[in-house]
Amino acid sequence: MAFKCEQFSGNMKKCNCSYEPCERKGNCCACIHYHLAMNELPACAFSNEAERSWDRSFENFIRDKKEK
Ligand code: SF4
Repeated sequence: MAFKCEQFSGNMKKCNCSYEPCERKGNCCACIHYHLAMNELPACAFSNEAERSWDRSFENFIRDKKEK
């Protein structure tokens, strides 16, 4: 990816995404646009445990929040 976000380092400190490799990691704008276009949410919307399933669906988000 040619564009590198000015907030890249700070974003990476907060990113819990376990999917490797992903060119959007640390570029939150690209990350959320990508997932919303697929009716999904980014990794950081989920608990670390739910995130590791790589199921980024809204259904999994609701399931994850209900379990908390
Ligand atoms: S949540 Fe998706 S787009 Fe964002 S860094 Fe992880 S795999 Fe990439």
